[in-house]
Amino acid sequence: MNTVSFHTIGCKLNQYETQTLIDTFRSAGFCIKSPKEVADVCIINTCCVTHTAEQTARNLVRRIVRLYPKPYVVVTGCYARLDHSSIKKIRGVDLIEYDKEKICRDMINVGLKPTISSFSGHTRAFVKIQDGCNNFCSFCILPFVRGKPFSRPHKEILQEVETIAERGYMEVILTGINLGDYRDNGCTLTDLLRSIEVLPDLYRLRISSIEPHSIGEQFVDFLKGSKKICRHLHIPLQSGDDEILKKMRRRYTTEQYARMISLLKRSISDLTIGADVIVGFPGESEENFQRTCDFIRQIPLSYLHVFRYSTRPRTEATTFRPNVSEEVKKIRSGKLREIGKKKWREYRTRFLGKTLQCLVENKRDRESKKLVGISDNYIKVLFEGQDSLMGEFVPIQIENITDKFCIGTLDKRKETTENTKLTQKKRKTQPPAGL
Ligand code: SF4
Repeated sequence: MNTVSFHTIGCKLNQYETQTLIDTFRSAGFCIKSPKEVADVCIINTCCVTHTAEQTARNLVRRIVRLYPKPYVVVTGCYARLDHSSIKKIRGVDLIEYDKEKICRDMINVGLKPTISSFSGHTRAFVKIQDGCNNFCSFCILPFVRGKPFSRPHKEILQEVETIAERGYMEVILTGINLGDYRDNGCTLTDLLRSIEVLPDLYRLRISSIEPHSIGEQFVDFLKGSKKICRHLHIPLQSGDDEILKKMRRRYTTEQYARMISLLKRSISDLTIGADVIVGFPGESEENFQRTCDFIRQIPLSYLHVFRYSTRPRTEATTFRPNVSEEVKKIRSGKLREIGKKKWREYRTRFLGKTLQCLVENKRDRESKKLVGISDNYIKVLFEGQDSLMGEFVPIQIENITDKFCIGTLDKRKETTENTKLTQKKRKTQPPAGL
């Protein structure tokens, strides 16, 4: 039997799209190998969101070509669309193709499966609801590689989530490039969430990331009353300075962002809110950066993802001047990461001594070898326990906090009937597949 391995770089959307390829190749009779095993075909799904992501993609392709004995190497994903010629220079690459439908038609003579029914190697499954973006923020390459907004049919998504939940996945994470743009015959993101929430086998629904301008009163009201939507939102900020936000072509001011965060925090208790921030955008002065730091210190964000600005071809910001030196970007990202670290620690401190209901990941923490549980509000807790708890909901009492994790113990007092019910239900269904 022919064998195939898949290697994915980048966002949750890429991971979902790799899964559609896995399902298609499997049903065409291929044996799926793990990325560490030798396979006849290696498919590499790449990313180009930053300069570093491109470099990672090239290095991965080179490593696969060098390590494995003459596999058929296919490079797909955003980088394959952006820079065909750089990949072509790597000796040993057989096919460079962004279009996954075409890969399947050309290689195995079948169409790409439009839906997935499991999520290889994961406890929580990602489901793509939308692709593309028309916003053209001045730094962002995604509208050029992913194209115009496209929403998957409402019914197809519902069916997919239902199948995944029935198979024992307790949490589904909705993904897309710009989730707030979701539209299917008048059905908005909030309508979609409302219809998914009532699926009986689904226990948790998470939204991967949502743009600030997509958060309206209706959305907040729905989250407030929901029993299944995780109390966790990732809302890109990008800069805490109005002058820079305008140059970035973002659709909000710092005042609007702060107002929206405050409304969310007032409406939903223990809501975790994370944000992306870019440092070193062209023209970002020391004053602009300082204003960003001050703004972030003032608002109740729980954590930050800090990125150094990376020039992306075809984007408007490539023409902006003056460029910020790499050295200054490094200093600024270091400062902002420190602020983020402090915020994350302070935020989690309020949970010390409390018990959180956590879904246990199917991989142990590499260093401590402890189990990893994730609460609905995205707090990761390490605790001692048996492998049999993987994929289960367990109550964990928080005892300590480190920079990355919380440390806790199984709270025997809170092992409720609900926990037992969940466990029994899951055992009746198929557990999340390894590979
Ligand atoms: S909204 Fe997001 S994906 Fe769209 S252009 Fe802006 S940053 Fe890129």
